[in-house]
Amino acid sequence: MRILMSACKQVVQPMVSFHGPALTNINMDPFFRRKDKVVIVMGATGTGKSRLAIDLAMHYPAEIINSDKMQVYKGLDIVTNKVTEEECKGIPHHLIGKFDPNSNFTANDFKNHASLAIESILERDRLPIIAGGSNSYIEALVDKHSEFRMKYECCFLWVDVAIPVLHSFVSKRVDRMVKVGLVDEVRKMFDSTTEAEYTNGIRQAIGVPEMHEYLHCEASGSNDDETQERLLQAAISKIKENTCILAYRQLQKIRRLQARRGWNMHRLDATEVFLKHQGEADQAWEKFVATPATRMVDKFLLNPIPSILPTEAIITPPRFFPRLCRQWLPQHGN
Ligand code: ATP
Repeated sequence: MRILMSACKQVVQPMVSFHGPALTNINMDPFFRRKDKVVIVMGATGTGKSRLAIDLAMHYPAEIINSDKMQVYKGLDIVTNKVTEEECKGIPHHLIGKFDPNSNFTANDFKNHASLAIESILERDRLPIIAGGSNSYIEALVDKHSEFRMKYECCFLWVDVAIPVLHSFVSKRVDRMVKVGLVDEVRKMFDSTTEAEYTNGIRQAIGVPEMHEYLHCEASGSNDDETQERLLQAAISKIKENTCILAYRQLQKIRRLQARRGWNMHRLDATEVFLKHQGEADQAWEKFVATPATRMVDKFLLNPIPSILPTEAIITPPRFFPRLCRQWLPQHGN
């Protein structure tokens, strides 16, 4: 089903009810406006958020906004596990590999840039899908940004995987990253002449500080091959351990957001996908994640317009009012 995004806005009710003949000549348009819809894909690292966001974006007219605090920076594509051009399948991605890796991109920066990206996507009559693991960024955007909830209606999708299964997957993923060049990638940005500093920008990414001792000894040439190999293996183990800790903390944070902030998250259990191989894993993905997620988003987008509102409120044109929307709302005369 293809859905035109602007046809799927939710009407916002005014804060105050106006009654009586004295007010009949007042233009009520500014009080009624349609809420734009935004889909937010959450989940711990490795669960398949990016895949789901791309699957959804292939189904709807949509664009993706990255909400991973390390992927916003330029560089370290392997370490930060950025989606490749091939994986993107032509879907436009925003806030990915965009910012100076030595700068500090804050939650507030994310809030500002993501808001602009959402608006630009909506102007193109597409659905904004925010996907990434940095829950503090999502929190800053959705809950600490007073305008956001007034302007947008959110559908939260949470891709979940049982922690032991996820731990085993992320460990193997680290091995794959090493195979495709993680060490070299970090080596290129390693500067043995400066003081070790891993508290700013992309250098905080898991995979960078852990490689310090290995690269430092390599640069000084003070160790034999065997000692260097031992340091490398220790660094890889530490990367695995820290990635597992990150996954666990992200999961806890999602649960906290659900419990304390009352976000209505639709949980999609992807555990089966990780227990299967190749074709069977793809089938499980369709069955347990992609299909239910699409159903949830369909429902969210087609959420019926409340009938209790006055006709004028329903037909008030939003910023853009395409043909399909007019067909749906025949009262609209122009
Ligand atoms: P917190 O408030 O605890 O920072 P958060 O939701 O803002 O949580 P996370 O995405 O959980 O942020 O990132 C926490 C840390 O995990 C980052 O500072 C970084 O060290 C590491 N990290 C996060 N994403 C990645 C990534 N894609 N690649 C490598 N390391 C990452």
